[in-house]
Amino acid sequence: MARYDYACGRCGVFEVVRPIDAPVHEPTCATCGGAATRVYAPPVITSPHSALRRARDAAEASAHEPAVLHRMPAPPRRHAHPPNPLHARLPRP
Ligand SMILES: [Zn+2]
Repeated sequence: MARYDYACGRCGVFEVVRPIDAPVHEPTCATCGGAATRVYAPPVITSPHSALRRARDAAEASAHEPAVLHRMPAPPRRHAHPPNPLHARLPRP
């Protein structure tokens, strides 16, 4: 089941819970029966310690207080691990 937010012009935002594979339709307001439109919101991140959360917090913090580098960052390594010898047998253009 997924939760979707809809907005009614008179009553405000309300939530509809339906299967994620259900056909998309614009529901009517449960209070007044008027037309409702979909409201899009950022996804809810449930784990406050996830890598995504840390990356998002770092990106947001860097917008206000950019990190100061005291030296140039190391160049990226070409191969983090030895190349696979089977790749040499692959056809070349
Ligand atoms: Zn309404």
